[in-house]
Amino acid sequence: MPNYKISKSLFLRGLQCHKSLWLYKHKPEERRKPDASLQATFNAGTEVGQLAQGLFPGGVEIDFDHRNFNGMAKRTAELIEQGCNTIYEATFIRDGILVLVDILHKSRDGWQLFEVKSTASVKDYQILDTSIQWYVVSHHLPLTKAAVVHIDIDYVRKGELDLQKLFHVADITDSVLPLQSQIPAQLQQMHTVVNHEDQPDIEIGDHCLSPFECDFSDYCWRSVPQDSVFNLYRMNWNQRWELFNDGIKSIAEIPEDYTLTDTQQIQRTVLRSGEPYIDKAVITDFLEQLQYPIAYLDFETFSEPVPRFDGQRPFQNIPFQFSLHIEDRTGRITHHEFLADENSYPVHDFAEALLAKLPEQGTILAWNMGFEKGIVRSVASGVSQFQQQLENLKPRFMDLLQPFQKKGYYHPAMHGSFSIKSVLPALFPNDPELNYKSLSVQDGSMAMTIYAGLHKIADPAERQSIRDSLLVYCKLDTLAMVKILQFLRKL
Ligand code: SF4
Repeated sequence: MPNYKISKSLFLRGLQCHKSLWLYKHKPEERRKPDASLQATFNAGTEVGQLAQGLFPGGVEIDFDHRNFNGMAKRTAELIEQGCNTIYEATFIRDGILVLVDILHKSRDGWQLFEVKSTASVKDYQILDTSIQWYVVSHHLPLTKAAVVHIDIDYVRKGELDLQKLFHVADITDSVLPLQSQIPAQLQQMHTVVNHEDQPDIEIGDHCLSPFECDFSDYCWRSVPQDSVFNLYRMNWNQRWELFNDGIKSIAEIPEDYTLTDTQQIQRTVLRSGEPYIDKAVITDFLEQLQYPIAYLDFETFSEPVPRFDGQRPFQNIPFQFSLHIEDRTGRITHHEFLADENSYPVHDFAEALLAKLPEQGTILAWNMGFEKGIVRSVASGVSQFQQQLENLKPRFMDLLQPFQKKGYYHPAMHGSFSIKSVLPALFPNDPELNYKSLSVQDGSMAMTIYAGLHKIADPAERQSIRDSLLVYCKLDTLAMVKILQFLRKL
């Protein structure tokens, strides 16, 4: 077999798409760099991996050296030879395939490998991931068990972290063993692909999105038009691919006799005409239900695999920030905001500040209100002191998304999306005050990532600067709602 090193992650890449594997070797410059959220997910995974080592204390870690994998494998072999029973990042190579095992442990039953994942359950790709490890390690050692160590979402932190309860060890030996016979042929194909000069002739398809969104999609999808059939509102993916593969690539090209929903027909109509679609009756009906004072409300939440605070569960959605614009009957608008201390469990302070700032009556307007209502419900169940007051807020919510979803207004520049990040620039394309792209925090997942890491930043000035950016971002979310409602009123 040719001696091109295929790591565990390249093997998974190759299973998803041979072209992705080829591009990785031959056109790495076309690969999209991981964004801050993805990077944070990697970092969280590393932290969880280190924490899980505590389940098997007293082991020896193989120091990572990307220039000397052979040295890492040699050190692993030496430790095994010396009788070491637990090795972290144990390194093995077989036929040019390199694997680093999170935890290799020798129990009374024999050698076992443990793959640590910061997920709430075992995923299919993790079984594939572990199967290639088994293939390589079992060439060097007799293995008796393979397991995925993942987060147990039922764990609630009380005092010190309890690793036995935080982690769940899922034995996947019976899933990994049947895959072993396929691996040599899969690897042979991958070696053939990467050593070939020509790019494999593989079209885009479902495989570009599953199990992960491919980081070469900007390259492979570059000829897909901006208003492609993939932007059709709530059309299932099979139908989208059918249209695309039949040569109907853009929404405007869809024939008249093709069955579309009302919203999809509106998408086609506005793309052909270039004019927005307006149904004033839907908008008027929505506006007439609003009651003053109107509270424009937006929450930001974070979640993390390892709870830091008492009472916190893994991956629990925890509100840490809100922005609130209040408009009274005269049109006067005031702004209020809250951003929690990153070093304490924020839920009580969040609830207290919210109830202090919200008017006692009138409409509470949110964008996609199911999220905000869900957070109010979960905060109410966790803070008994404010439970009733929070429960009383729920009937006052109205959703500013509704007039758009109910086909009151659709603009071609919304590209099939009713997210506020799509609607705002479509309605106010040249307003620098309403441009998320000019901010250092540009979306909710970025806010979540940044806040979750804020407590680790030692420099107070840097921390303050990040807190200021979070405030600016969240304020724009509710200012956007104010402007969008003004826009609807003018219509
Ligand atoms: S974008 Fe799709 S076709 Fe292109 S390399 Fe990735 S998975 Fe393969």
